[in-house]
Amino acid sequence: MTKAIKFIKSNLFLTSVIFAYAVLALINPQIGLQGAKNSGYYIKEMLMIMPVIFVLTALLDSWVPKRTIIRYLGKEAKTKGVVLSFVLGSISAGPIYAAFPFCVMLHKKGASIKNVVIILSSWAVVKIPMLLNEAKFLGFKFMITRWILTVISILIFSWITAKIVKDEDLPQEELRLKKGVYLNKTACMGCTVCTRMYPALFQMDGKRAMVKEYNYLDMKLLQKAIEACPVKAIEYI
Ligand code: SF4
Repeated sequence: MTKAIKFIKSNLFLTSVIFAYAVLALINPQIGLQGAKNSGYYIKEMLMIMPVIFVLTALLDSWVPKRTIIRYLGKEAKTKGVVLSFVLGSISAGPIYAAFPFCVMLHKKGASIKNVVIILSSWAVVKIPMLLNEAKFLGFKFMITRWILTVISILIFSWITAKIVKDEDLPQEELRLKKGVYLNKTACMGCTVCTRMYPALFQMDGKRAMVKEYNYLDMKLLQKAIEACPVKAIEYI
């Protein structure tokens, strides 16, 4: 009984949905069954897509250095960042929920809130395959008018969102806000090279390395550790 209450408490949303289906099935079994079938279809689709998205996001997280993301999608990227965000969102494939882990990773690595909003929004409503279909079914004039107005709206909404939502409102922000040494724990393979090269700065934390508290950096040692890390998990920004 206690276990059941614990499960309900920690899975409140899931149990509410199951309860809603159960009530619906009692009131109208046909609609209840149809609802369960639809949910099953979407769950199956998510289970097929999300593992691929997580793998691709983890690879990008490991391969693309933080300074590159800051340079091209960060606050200082200005027009370049806006254009790149529109391109990234427009050429993307897959459903919108696949964009969230990708955008979390980009933001964690330095993409600005404004550019994250642009990527998410263009992913949702101005994807290129969608525009082609739209032109085919509704005509070129309809498609181009909607595209222009949508892009203008996205620019306005992204600007407003960036004014309201601050970096610190999003999870994991402390990793990004401070200038200094960063270690990507997801990418770290625990080879201990950095801890042996610069033991005053790096130490093992279980199977991964971590950065110790520091007041002073020996830039020569740090540079050596950065270069020696086999998975390029260490960055200095
Ligand atoms: S050198 Fe890189 S991979 Fe090896 S422990 Fe340090 S951070 Fe991890």
